[in-house]
Amino acid sequence: MLVQKYKDMLSGKSVIRELSEFATARGQEIGYENVFDYSLGNPSVPVPREFTDEMIHMLTQMGTNELHGYSPSLGITGVREAVATSLEKRFGLPYRKEHIFMAVGAAGALAHAFRLVTEPGDEILTFAPYFPEYGPYVNLTGAVLKVVPPDTESFQIHFAKFEEMLTEKVMAVLINTPNNPSGVVYSAETLERMADLLRKKSAEYGHTIYLISDEPYREIVFQGVDAPCVSAFYDDTIMCYSFSKSLSIPGERIGYVAVNPACRDAEDMVYMCGQISRGIGHNCPPSIIQLAVAKVLDKTADLSVYETNMNLLYHEMTELGFTCVKPGGTFYIFPRALEEDAKEFCRKALQYDLILVPGDTFGAPGYFRMAYCIDTEKVERSLEALRRFVKEIYR
Ligand code: PLP
Repeated sequence: MLVQKYKDMLSGKSVIRELSEFATARGQEIGYENVFDYSLGNPSVPVPREFTDEMIHMLTQMGTNELHGYSPSLGITGVREAVATSLEKRFGLPYRKEHIFMAVGAAGALAHAFRLVTEPGDEILTFAPYFPEYGPYVNLTGAVLKVVPPDTESFQIHFAKFEEMLTEKVMAVLINTPNNPSGVVYSAETLERMADLLRKKSAEYGHTIYLISDEPYREIVFQGVDAPCVSAFYDDTIMCYSFSKSLSIPGERIGYVAVNPACRDAEDMVYMCGQISRGIGHNCPPSIIQLAVAKVLDKTADLSVYETNMNLLYHEMTELGFTCVKPGGTFYIFPRALEEDAKEFCRKALQYDLILVPGDTFGAPGYFRMAYCIDTEKVERSLEALRRFVKEIYR
């Protein structure tokens, strides 16, 4: 018999993916250049030359078995060392290879982190607006995802609601800064306050509440914005990193878990990740990609286009009367819709070939997300469509 829970998921497909498919189909009718597709968070800037050169060098100079053979289950030792050294240099925390586990993107890293610290029935708290894939990521482990409602003034943490929901059942708190979909970067004040509360509640309940920090957008931070290192605030932090967005290589599926060296049992946790991998089939990420990223740990793609696009959109949206928190990073912006029902708002926008994603899917109804990882030239052309949309429908 087929398993019902997966069958049930067929009717709850990703809204983002559906909109992206719609945009592709519409593109076949009118030319994709005429579709203002703000649906998908697929990086638009080229992979850095250094990464490509490294791949070419390895493919021509190294042995095929080394490049294409199985990686050790925790990741290639030299790669884990390089990641640890780079984290130590950058954040001043004493990371060693024993704290690093190589994983299949942020998704793979999160899959391990959730299983490390929760049993079926335990709760994981996250904060709206949030990345919708957290639903299936968590629920299929048997843990329960609970969502703290948003502080819509700033999209930092709504502390009153957070404290109320931080019950004894909560084993982990999951944050994502810089944030998809709001683009907001959590301030040092927010992180300090959150860490204080986690320490207080861990002591009160007699068990550690772990902080799982999902950081695929860590390198996409705009000028003048301070993006503090989450792990520096709380010892029991499990960092989940991905190279998908920083190097524009989401298809290569590579990232890592970095357990805070100050976390009790940190080394055991990394070995446990190796065991979790055996069970969930996420083991041994591609060797060649591990080796390549290790050579470019201090490089990123040219991410500046995202800030250019953000400034264009933020300026236009505020001019048009949208309420909008200015993004501090990522390639997302999350304005308030011009009518209460954001789904209806996004449906009407389709008439102008504007593909926007309703906030309902991110746990923040009434808002919508634009993923501006597209060419600046297209963003510029979309502004006219936005103006017409607002003028003809809402004025
Ligand atoms: N977490 C967030 C917040 C994301 O936006 C994404 C991808 O868009 C992921 C995790 C998954 O990242 P990866 O593709 O590296 O698995």
